Amino acid sequence: MAGVAYIGVGSNVGDAFENCLQGMRAVIDNERATFVALSSLYRTSPVSPVVQSDFLNCALKIAWRGTPRELLSFLQEVEAALGRDRGVRFGPRTLDLDILFFDDLVLDTPGLTIPHPRLHQRKFALVPCLEIDPGLVHPRFGRPLAEYLRELGDEQKIAPFGKVPADRIGSAKAGDAPEGGGG
Ligand code: AMP
Repeated sequence: MAGVAYIGVGSNVGDAFENCLQGMRAVIDNERATFVALSSLYRTSPVSPVVQSDFLNCALKIAWRGTPRELLSFLQEVEAALGRDRGVRFGPRTLDLDILFFDDLVLDTPGLTIPHPRLHQRKFALVPCLEIDPGLVHPRFGRPLAEYLRELGDEQKIAPFGKVPADRIGSAKAGDAPEGGGG
């Protein structure tokens, strides 16, 4: 199996910018992954009952030669290698890597739900995905992602933080990094 995946990337511990970069480099370095596109980074307020610092978030789009389950296992290895402490649910994250979409797949299995079950309620997932593809439609509900974003109030704060040049995460390996990393 192979497919195109949107991966949600986030960090709010230590040097969040470096953590996101290192995490994405590790993803792209995998021989089964090919870089497709990268959103800007955004500074976002935590959506959590736990008091903690703001996050940096972005979305990374890759082609993955393997199953979604293999992708999840690999992302969890990267999170662990970069020192994520799973102690507090919804707590601070050195690096959080989620599968947001995998093609138009709708999957409900123990430990893996695709699309990510909360992405349509979270600006930190919606905004970066829509930057990469403004026409994205939620495959489970059949609604454009842009509609979910419009319906969210002002409570969740999100501000552009900056663009990451695609070569900073090693996308040159794939030889297909678009200008400025978007698209
Ligand atoms: P979190 O701590 O919020 O990153 O959640 C991690 C847990 O969510 C893991 O136990 C995963 O098995 C589970 N999970 C379910 N669906 C997904 C998904 N689409 N992407 C990442 N983790 C997922």
